[in-house]
Formats: sequence, C-alpha cells, structure tokens
Amino acid sequence: MSNRSIGLDDRLYQYLLDHSLRESELLRELREETAADPKSMMQIAPEQGQFMALLVSLLQARRCIEVGVFTGYSSLSVAAALPEDGYLLACDVDPEWTAMARRYWQRGGVSDRIELVLAPAAETLQQRLKAGEAGSYDFAFIDADKENYARYYEQCLELLRPGGLIVLDNMLWNGSVADPQRNDPDTAALKALNRQLVDDERIRLSLLPVADGLALCQKR
Ligand code: SAH
Ligand code: CA
Repeated sequence: MSNRSIGLDDRLYQYLLDHSLRESELLRELREETAADPKSMMQIAPEQGQFMALLVSLLQARRCIEVGVFTGYSSLSVAAALPEDGYLLACDVDPEWTAMARRYWQRGGVSDRIELVLAPAAETLQQRLKAGEAGSYDFAFIDADKENYARYYEQCLELLRPGGLIVLDNMLWNGSVADPQRNDPDTAALKALNRQLVDDERIRLSLLPVADGLALCQKR
C-alpha cells in the first residue's frame, strides 16, 4: 500500500469497468464502429466519457466547447449530459470522422445541441472571441493537435466564465512527458504546458492519472 495513485493492470481495469461503467448502448456501438478505424486509439476511454459527463452535470453546464471531435465519443457523452437547451461548440477539421459523429448525435437526439465547425480550431475559437463570446462558456474539453494545446488553453480560458472548467486530454502522454529523452514536437508541447499550468494563478489545477492523464483547470 502507498498513498500513490493505484496502477491498473488488466484485471483491475476490467473490475473498474464492471463496477462503474454505465455506457449507453449507443456509445458502445460508437466505440465498436470506431474500433475498425486504424486511428481508433485516439478515442477517449469510456470511463473518461462518463467522468466528463459527471463534471458537466456538477458544473450545471449549459454552454460547452470541444476541440477535437473525431468520431464523436466525447461530444456525445458531454452533449447527453446537457439540458435540452444546452449548446456544444464542436471543433474539428476532418469531414469523414465527424460525419460518423453526426450520425451518432442524431441517433442520440442531441444534434440540436451541437454546432460542428469544420476549420482549424484556433480560428474558430478566435472568431468566437471576436464575436463577443468571452466569459460565456462553462466547460471546455481540449483533445486535438498537441502543438496547439497552449493556444487552445488560452482561448478557452478567455471563453469560460469564472468557475468554468477546462479539461485537457493526454497530459501524461503515455509517460513520455516524464522521459527526458523524448522531445518530439508533441511531447515538448505537452511538457511545456504542464510546466506552465502548475504556476498558472488564473486557475485551480488538478492533474489526474485517468486514462492518458487529464488536467482539470478551473478558471478563478
Ligand atoms: N475527443 C475525440 C478524440 C479526438 S482525436 C473522441 O472522444 O473520440 C483528435 C481530433 O483532433 C481528430 O478528429 C482531428 O481531426 C482533430 N484535429 C487535429 N488538428 C486539428 C485542428 N487544428 N483543429 C481542429 N481539430 C483538429
Ligand atoms: Ca485524446
């Protein structure tokens, strides 16, 4: 025993899923259909989707942002946790993956809550700032190109209201962030952002070893 976060071997991870996962039939189907894609490992973990839905509910979020949609697992999880008049701004650049996401949003009855913008996310977020939407969002999930994370973080921080939450995915990057030898552009970007966040006084911070590492940043 130690007070360190527990490591999950296959058996214990299965136990965790067996005793907590409440995945809808639709999300399960989405996960199965996505498994056929060679990039399927980009999809968030199911218990992570459930956790983010819980956060959205705790925040009583109505207006959310997602940067990095892929085939729609996280957006469907978040949108389903919103009230009927909730809103999710979904940013991605890929028409094919997001076509699949759209199909599932439709089936889940949440497509009215989701606005997909197919353009580089930094441009979309900049436009929203220009349009006067600063301070008007409750929750943001950042899960796209790692080299732009710091930019997305700054933009989302401006778009959030005080008390709003940013969740950054992959902040432990399969352990590479702790490896001094690894300095490829993605790893270097995540290392720099982790270094920055720990001293960022604009937020309350928690870096959780959930899935590939989730940084929770609450705007003060
Ligand atoms: N959250 C998703 C996984 C996202 S994978 C899920 O739950 O399944 C990363 C996504 O980021 C991909 O769909 C990719 O097309 C998108 N992406 C990459 N660069 C981007 C950019 N500059 N702007 C917006 N999206 C981008
Ligand atoms: Ca991810």
